[in-house]
Formats: sequence, C-alpha cells, structure tokens
Amino acid sequence: MLPPIARRFVAGESPAAALEHARELNERDVAVILNLLGEHYDDPEPAEADAAAYRQLIDDIADADLDACVSIKPSQLGLDLGEDRFRALLEEVVARGAERDVFVWVDMEDHTTTDATLDAFEDLAREHWSGEGPDGGIGLCVQANLKRTREDVERLADVPGKVRFVKGAYDEPADVAYADKSRVNEAYRELLEYAFDRYDGGIAIGSHDPEMIDYAKELHEERGADFEVQMLMGVREDAQVELAAEGYEVWQYAPYGKKWKSYFWRRIRERKENLTFALRAILGR
Ligand code: FAD
Repeated sequence: MLPPIARRFVAGESPAAALEHARELNERDVAVILNLLGEHYDDPEPAEADAAAYRQLIDDIADADLDACVSIKPSQLGLDLGEDRFRALLEEVVARGAERDVFVWVDMEDHTTTDATLDAFEDLAREHWSGEGPDGGIGLCVQANLKRTREDVERLADVPGKVRFVKGAYDEPADVAYADKSRVNEAYRELLEYAFDRYDGGIAIGSHDPEMIDYAKELHEERGADFEVQMLMGVREDAQVELAAEGYEVWQYAPYGKKWKSYFWRRIRERKENLTFALRAILGR
C-alpha cells in the first residue's frame, strides 16, 4: 500500500487511483499527465505488460472523458533491449492514443538514448499526424543541459507534435552536457527564444522555476506562440492551480504504480524541503 508520506508525489498504486486523481485535478482546471512508474527493463515481459497497461489507460481516459494524457519512458518500453522492440511497443501505444484521441508524451532519459528516442518520435509523429502541426497527438521532452539540444530543437521545428522543455534530470558527462546551473538556465532561455520564434505553438514549459515560467509568458506576449506549463505532482501545487485560474494551460505530471519507492526517494534527494512537505502532509499541518 502507498504510505501517506509518498502520497504527495505519487497518485496511487492502481490505475483507478490515478484516474481518480486526474478527475479531482480536472475540477480545479488542471489537466493531468499520467505516468506508470517503471524503467530500465532487461526482460521483454514487463515492457510488454507496461505497453498493454498504457493502452488500457488510454481507453480508460477516453471512456471517462478526462482532461488527461500519458507520458512514457523509453526504457520502460524496452529501449535497453533494443531499438526495434522499443519502436514496436511505442507504436502500439501511440496508435491507441491516435485512435482514442489521447495525447502521448515521450520522456527523455540519459544522453545515450537521445538519438533512438528522437528518431522513433519523429517517425511516429510524421506517420500519424503529418500536416497537423503542434496539435498532433504526440510530444517529446528535450533537455536544456545537453549541448546537442539546440540542434534537436531545430530538427523538431517542422515535426508535428509538442515539445516539452526541461532542464534535464540526469548526471551527464562534461563533454555532452553543461554542469553549471546558470549555464543550463541560459541554455533553457535560448531554447525558449528559438521555440517561440519558430514553433507554431505546442511549447510545454516543464519546469517549476518561476523565472522560466515568467519568461515564457513574456515571449508569448511578444511573439504569440501558445504554450502550456507542466509541473510534477507534489511540487508547487498552489502555483499550478493559480496559473490555471489565471487562464494558462497547466498540466500536472502525476506518476502512479507499484514501483513508487525509487521515484519518491528521487524527489526527496533532489530537495530536502520535500521531506518536510511530505511529513507535514501526514501530520496535517
Ligand atoms: P530547478 O532548476 O530545480 O529550480 C529552479 C527554481 O524552481 C527554484 O529556485 C524554485 O524557485 C523552484 N522550484 C524547483 N523545485 C521546487 C520545489 N520542489 N518546491 C518549490 N519550488 C521549487 N527531466 C528529464 O531529464 N527528462 C524528462 O522527461 C523530464 N520530464 C519532466 C516532466 C515534467 C512535467 C517536469 C516538471 C520535469 C521533468 N523533468 C524531466 C525534470 C527536469 O529536467 C528537472 O530536473 C526538474 O524539473 C527540476 O528543474 P526545474 O526547472 O523544475 O527547477
């Protein structure tokens, strides 16, 4: 059972709990990105099982008419077992999303997976949504800490679908990534400038950073392209509801599933205050 301390960051262990979480947030005008926890499978069975679970989740989201979508890690769909398997499983999920009109996001993992993830994303986006622009039903995450990302973002400019801009969560070698936080922030701003100039909308700000969100608002005012804000469950939730009330499109990334332990500890390690917040939540103050 999910202990109360983890409930701040994880929507539940079952799809039913995740869907209920989405329903509650939708009432506050926040849309939800559901992620079934799981990654780095070295066996085909769990990868196939998670692909099947995502197909079912897409059906459930569509049947319940929720303002919700899904987000998937490449290694959850077997990328560690080979690119072909990953592509085949992603295709199954994306095809179901296209059929039921439920958006599918692809998370980005460490730099060794970037080429395979981008190639699969581009092929599927073109195959299913050619000519549909940013409203296509698929999106890809890109990481500002990687030096290659500017070129990737240029490549994605005419690919149908959305792009989620994040700072990057993985420890990467110095030859491929910026280590310095202020350099990553500068790269993030530069990527947004490019996207607001060249993209026809479909820009997702995957950040809790008030400075980056304000910068996106400014660029939107100046240059017009539409954007949405995405934040994690349990992080700046007041800001999520406030931004939605101001009329911005806000999506909360909410993980669920039985493999919650490593995700929960990642959140705690990343920011010690998160432990205080989680403890306060169970103590009711
Ligand atoms: P930071 O640079 O960590 O912090 C900047 C400022 O934001 C802080 O000074 C503070 O003002 C505010 N802030 C940050 N955290 C908190 C907090 N806990 N409480 C209060 N204020 C806070 N990374 C990947 O590599 N691949 C992915 O696919 C991916 N998907 C993501 C999806 C979403 C929706 C989000 C939100 C993040 C995702 N990330 C992903 C993680 C991302 O790369 C960053 O590691 C993470 O978001 C931290 O960076 P930040 O921009 O939020 O802010």
